[in-house]
Amino acid sequence: MAAHQKLAVILENPQNDAEFLLVKQTRPLKFDDEEYDSYVDSDLWDLPSSQLNLLEGQSKPSIAVAGAESLSGKIDLEKFDFDSALNQVLEQVGFKPADGGDWRLSKYVEEGQFGPGPPINSVFIRGKLVAPEQNLQESCRWMSVPSCLSWLVEVKPSSDRVGPLIVAGLLNESEQSREMNIPSTLPYQEYPPGVVLVPMGSRTAKPFYTTNLVVFAPKNASNESGKNDFIACGDALIVDPGCRSEFHEELAQIVTSLPRKLVVFVTHHHQDHVDGLSVIQRCNPDATLLAHENTVRRIGKDDWSLGFTAISGTEEICIGGQRLIAVFSPGHTDGHMALLHASTHTLIVGDHCVGQGSAVLDVTAGGNMTDYFQSTYKFMELSPHALVPMHGRVNLWPKHLLCGYLKNRRARESSVLKAIENGAETLFDIVATVYSEVDRRFWIPAASNVRLHVDHLAQQDKLPKEFSIQRFQKTCRLHFFSRWIGAYLSSVVRLNCSKPRKSQVLVAGAVASFAIVLYMFKNRLSPR
Ligand SMILES: [Zn+2]
Ligand SMILES: [Zn+2]
Repeated sequence: MAAHQKLAVILENPQNDAEFLLVKQTRPLKFDDEEYDSYVDSDLWDLPSSQLNLLEGQSKPSIAVAGAESLSGKIDLEKFDFDSALNQVLEQVGFKPADGGDWRLSKYVEEGQFGPGPPINSVFIRGKLVAPEQNLQESCRWMSVPSCLSWLVEVKPSSDRVGPLIVAGLLNESEQSREMNIPSTLPYQEYPPGVVLVPMGSRTAKPFYTTNLVVFAPKNASNESGKNDFIACGDALIVDPGCRSEFHEELAQIVTSLPRKLVVFVTHHHQDHVDGLSVIQRCNPDATLLAHENTVRRIGKDDWSLGFTAISGTEEICIGGQRLIAVFSPGHTDGHMALLHASTHTLIVGDHCVGQGSAVLDVTAGGNMTDYFQSTYKFMELSPHALVPMHGRVNLWPKHLLCGYLKNRRARESSVLKAIENGAETLFDIVATVYSEVDRRFWIPAASNVRLHVDHLAQQDKLPKEFSIQRFQKTCRLHFFSRWIGAYLSSVVRLNCSKPRKSQVLVAGAVASFAIVLYMFKNRLSPR
């Protein structure tokens, strides 16, 4: 997948060499709903940046960037519309192209494979304003590296925040991440400082194809709170080692470079979160596993046969002197856990949230809509500064994202109720009505959520009197599958009816038969 490019500008303060310009980042649009709009994320400041597009035709950029030749082999800046990108950045902060001069390359940072789209790599350039006296816009401020760092690592609730371009472009990689020995084939991100995310290929569900491995190993830090009633202490932490076997070598390289006193935290049992556990067990049998007991009992002996410590939420963990707090967050599964890094107020949310779209709840592992809503409110009350999902990029507008989830779930639930009020009685009929616009391949994971919405409606006593929940439940297994196969096959045939291709219909038939055989064996619908 060809990467996209972004230009990020480090504009030095003509009055003070140690400072550079930050711009307040645009907030996501409001919801136009009092409840959701009452949850507000604090201001986020980052380097001004803009998309860097390829030039059309034979033209060349007129602005020269000293040192650009050092990028040969990675990116040819001469092929990009550098002038427009830089002008856009300067306009954003209230300056004209003539106000700046002497641009030089600072850094090129390749993004990890977060997905679902291609990575966005960043070209960082440095320059100074030519005229020393310039009035700053209200949305801009000069700031030094040490003050940014203190905003990032000594977070106070509701205080202003600093974004990832500053960390990637201006803060040197921490000694910790340099020592982690992360293979060069795996681009990673360190944000906030100390929290390292390595997206690794996994058996996850589309549109994603990687699971974020979180690695945390602070150096020489003192015990932040001085207390000693932690459930586990270690020198390093790994969260959700879920990579496919092709990446086990790389995972082994990371694990062996970490200190022996290793804590492994698993948010839940899905294969794309535990597939690498066996590698940790092999490389470091002294490692301690922390997870909810509902998670541990679903993890196979081949993945983990050593001891574990069951957690139920609120327990504290001490890693290299820094405090992390387990947060019980059922909904996706009944053993789902999140983890809050206290000093940066970063919340690792497992599969409760994903980088794009919404998470599917696992009806076969205690997934529950009431729990999902409650866990979402719990996260909002924690006021995290950043959300780290296990699939996709870090989210910088946590409250907005979580409110968006609540809004979408409620909208989906009212369409489920409407379908029922209009006469739908079976799982298939409800899915076919509510998801009529969605590709039928996705009706299987959608069915899992619909079942949970119906349970949630029943719990709230919102279902019409004539709707029989017992009759509905009888339609959730074989009945749903047989009707789905019929609907799926007919959609494939319809797609090809202008030019019928026997082979495609046969393939669809084989896929459908395989699905029903799988269903017979597993008798379950299991999202990841
Ligand atoms: Zn997952
Ligand atoms: Zn999952």
